[in-house]
Order: sequence, then C-alpha cells, then structure tokens
Amino acid sequence: ETVLDAAFFVRWMTAAAAVIDREADRLTELDSPIGDADHGRNMQRGFAAVVTALEAEPPATPGAVLTAAGRKLISSVGGASGPLYGTLLRRAGKALGEEPQVSAQELRTGLSAGVDAVAQLGGSAPGDKTMLDALVPGVEALATSFDAAATAAEKGALATVPLQAKKGRASYLGERSIGHQDPGATSSALLFAALAEVAK
Ligand code: ADP
Ligand code: MG
Ligand code: MG
Repeated sequence: ETVLDAAFFVRWMTAAAAVIDREADRLTELDSPIGDADHGRNMQRGFAAVVTALEAEPPATPGAVLTAAGRKLISSVGGASGPLYGTLLRRAGKALGEEPQVSAQELRTGLSAGVDAVAQLGGSAPGDKTMLDALVPGVEALATSFDAAATAAEKGALATVPLQAKKGRASYLGERSIGHQDPGATSSALLFAALAEVAK
C-alpha cells in the first residue's frame, strides 16, 4: 500500500495553491451572485501564505504539514472559508498524529475528523449548499482511490446548483440562491483534484 510522507503533503498543498491560483477568477465569479465576490481572492491569499510557510519551515511529519497549513489559513483569510478550511486541515493534522508516514486510509480517517469539525464549527450539514457538499462525498470516496475522491467531490460541487443555501452569506438570498454553484464546494473539489494530481 502507498505510504504518504511529509514531502507528499507539502506537494499536495503546493499543487492546491497552484490550482486555486489558476481557478481564482472562477471562484470569485461563483461568489458574485450568491456572495461577496471574494472567494477566489481569499483562497489565493490563504494558500499562497501556506506555501510560503511550508517552504520557510518544512514540517517533519504529515500531521505537522496539515496543522501548519490549517493554522496559516486561519491567520491569513478573513472570510468564512479561512476558519473553516483551517479547521479542516488542523483537525486532520491532529488526527494523523506524529507518524512519519501515513496510509491513504489514515488520511481518509484524518480528513473525516476534519470534515466533522467543519460541520460543527459551521453548524452545517450536507445539503446546506456549502463546502461540505463536496468534502463529504470526496472523503467518503477516498476509501476507493484518489481519483474517485476527486470525481465525487466535483460531482458534489455540481450538485449544489439546485440547492437552496442554508448557511453562509448565500443563505441571506433564500430561494434566490437556487441555480448557482457554491464557491466553497467548488474550491473543495479543487483540493481533491490537487490530491489526485500529486498521487499520480
Ligand atoms: P465569505 O462568505 O465570508 O466571504 P468565502 O467567500 O471565502 O467567505 O467563502 C464562502 C464559502 O464558505 C461558501 O461558498 C461556503 O461553501 C462556505 N461556508 C460559508 N458558511 C459556511 C458554514 N456555516 N458551513 C460550511 N461552509 C460554509
Ligand atoms: Mg465571499
Ligand atoms: Mg467575504
């Protein structure tokens, strides 16, 4: 079975920063009709800070990489997505502990704990038209493969279009939030796409 070391996790965060950079305009466009048009910029700023921090001081374990990344997102992103993604990664990092290498299934278990923490912090659940609509199916499909996780997360993001938002800024629009793809679910799918890319 594949073992994932700290360098793999740094590559994941670096690939995530790159894909977010490429897709930043699209994320901000999605955040225009149902938000405040800053999601791309928020994610760009956050992940650029993550990469800078990881390069300056490369952590020795997978858990430490995710914990450092989460901490950086919380401190550098003002919007709702900063604390939520920060909590996802910090909680997952904590779950991975101090092992120098982890398996894909340990990563899945860790991310699952992270997703639970996001739901708790956000008071949100799948179906609320949030990042959870991509994170939950993505983490579940990690039981199969990295590619399956990327596909499931992307499908989850697309499936937010007909939903009415129950949490976050989009919920202020009520029924008018229907018909738009959730920006946070879209960026979550990008995180899984980056994971699948570095696992190849
Ligand atoms: P803000 O809304 O503060 O400007 P962003 O635009 O960066 O922050 O992020 C918005 C995204 O955050 C939404 O598209 C949604 O996916 C996610 N989000 C917002 N509130 C919650 C919540 N309570 N639970 C889970 N995700 C949320
Ligand atoms: Mg926003
Ligand atoms: Mg904002």
